[in-house]
Amino acid sequence: MDMNPAINRAWHAVRDHSRAHEAFTYVYPVISRRSGGLSLGVNLNPNKRCNFDCVYCEVDRRTPGKRGAVDPARLGEELTLLVRSVREGALANTTKFREAGETARVIRDIAFSGDGEPTMVPNFAACVEVVVAVKQQEGLTEAKLVLITNATGLDRPDVQRGIEWMAQHRGEVWGKLDAGTEDYYRRVNRSRVPLDRILENLLLTARVRPIIIQSLFFRMAGSGMPPAEVEAYCDRLEGLMAGGGQIREVHAYTVARPTPEPWATALTADELEALAARIRVRTGLAVRTFA
Ligand code: SF4
Repeated sequence: MDMNPAINRAWHAVRDHSRAHEAFTYVYPVISRRSGGLSLGVNLNPNKRCNFDCVYCEVDRRTPGKRGAVDPARLGEELTLLVRSVREGALANTTKFREAGETARVIRDIAFSGDGEPTMVPNFAACVEVVVAVKQQEGLTEAKLVLITNATGLDRPDVQRGIEWMAQHRGEVWGKLDAGTEDYYRRVNRSRVPLDRILENLLLTARVRPIIIQSLFFRMAGSGMPPAEVEAYCDRLEGLMAGGGQIREVHAYTVARPTPEPWATALTADELEALAARIRVRTGLAVRTFA
């Protein structure tokens, strides 16, 4: 179950996770049920670059992204301004965040999550360093740092340096796993990266410290995940644990906002809960649902 009932799904800042906020390029605020409150997003992919093409992706790639490499100095400046606008109550007074009240005044986390895959950015570690520096300078000792990733770049040395630095400052990795078989993975995530590579990278990361697996379950042209695929998915989770990977919990969620593919639709809360129950029974893992 979603453990944050105080967050109202109808709030504008929950329904609209747009990356556009004022004149910022790299940072944006959202109220996130998975974060349990206000999350400051760090978009390392204003260029919309991703090596997945998930059926349910909310990023509208019909319009081009912004060109150019990520500028860590500018990222730091923008994040500082956004943190201060939260602290001074300016964000909570905007039309979009007013109804969230006190929730819009407490930064729960800073999340690398944007219009593409953050681990594809060549200067990932430099970006982490800047974010950590702002976190420290602004006294955000309680805020977590979260990397939301499709796992494709978790084996890159620069990314590993960044994750190591994050881990020393309340960092977590939330790795995507939406399938149990190569075939279903290709239908859902539409990537050329083999599923085995994703699993290897998740294992590599989870062997060092616990990770969160985040999985989106939905209906494709009317059909939910087939039962055999659910079992294969559980096999993959078990395989990660058998290989020495530590999984803190699984976040099971479904389509929450309109997607460019109209045939990708949400499961009901009961359907998602039934899936979560099966995953709990099969794997013994804690599973939180976000319907
Ligand atoms: S990995 Fe994320 S950004 Fe990339 S296509 Fe999938 S949902 Fe979109």
